[in-house]
Amino acid sequence: MNLSRKLMIEPGSRLRLSRCDPGDTPGFNSKASAARVLEKNLARLAELQYLLYAQNRHALLIVLQGPDASGKDGTIRHVMSGLNPQGVVVTPFKVPSAEELDHDFLWRVHQKVPPRGDIGIFNRSHYEDVLVVRVHELAPREVWSRRYEQINAFEKMLVENDVRILKFFLHIGKDEQKKRIQERIDDPTRNWKLSASDFEERKYFDDYRKAYEDVLSHCSTPTAPWYLVPSNHKWFRNLAVSQIIVEALEELHMKFPPPQIDLSKFRLQ
Ligand code: ADP
Repeated sequence: MNLSRKLMIEPGSRLRLSRCDPGDTPGFNSKASAARVLEKNLARLAELQYLLYAQNRHALLIVLQGPDASGKDGTIRHVMSGLNPQGVVVTPFKVPSAEELDHDFLWRVHQKVPPRGDIGIFNRSHYEDVLVVRVHELAPREVWSRRYEQINAFEKMLVENDVRILKFFLHIGKDEQKKRIQERIDDPTRNWKLSASDFEERKYFDDYRKAYEDVLSHCSTPTAPWYLVPSNHKWFRNLAVSQIIVEALEELHMKFPPPQIDLSKFRLQ
C-alpha cells in the first residue's frame, strides 16, 4: 500500500481529528508484519541517504509535530537509527530566546533548514507559532492568524529551491497520552522526562486539537503536504514515517553523479 497517498491530508480539506482514529493501522494487522517492512525500509533509507548525499542536489526536511508524549523523540530514535549521522541534523525548537523573539518567527527556522545533500529533522518547528502561541495567547490573533499564509509562502520558496519537505502529525488519543505520562511517572528512569507542562498542557488538549485542525487544513499544500500518522501504536507510527520518507526519496529518481574527472586519463600506481 502507498502510505503517502493514504495518510496525506488532502490540500484544502477540512479535517476533524475526532473522526480520525489514532489507533488505526491501515494495511497492517500485526506488529510482527510491520517489523519486517520497517527493517526493509530502514535499509532502503540508508541507501537513499547515500544517494542524496552523493547527488548533492536536494535537501530533505522532516517536520515532526504532535501533542506531548505523541512520540516525536521515539520516532527520531527508531526511524533515523540506520542513517549516517554525518548527513543528518536534528533541531529541537524550544521556547524562543530573547534574541529570537526580536526577529520574525521564521528567522530561527530558516537557519536550520538543511543544506543540499543533507537530512534535517525538526523536533517541533515553526508550527509552534500557530499552536502554543495561539493556545496560550502569546501573540494577538491578528499576528498568528496571518502566519498560515506566511508559512505556506516560506515552504513554497524552500521547495522551489530543492528542499523536499515532509510534515508528520503524530496523532494520539487523550487516553493514550494519559497512559504514556503515567508510565513516565511510574518509571524512575523516565521521571526526568516530566515537566510541569505535561500536567498543565493536558487541560488544553482540546484547544490544541482545534489549533492542529487549522494547521493541517491550511498548511497541507501539494508541494509540502502534511501526513496524519495514527500514533497510538508506536510500531505503526515508525512504520508509516519510515515508509513515507522512502516513498518521497524514491520519487526524486536520484542517480549517482558522473565522475568529476576523466577516469581514462588516470592510472592508479
Ligand atoms: P519537548 O517537549 O519538545 O521534548 P521541552 O519540554 O523543552 O521539549 O518543550 C519545548 C517547549 O517549547 C514546548 O512547550 C513548546 O510548546 C515550546 N515552544 C516551542 N516553540 C515555541 C514558540 N515559538 N513559542 C513558544 N513556545 C514554544
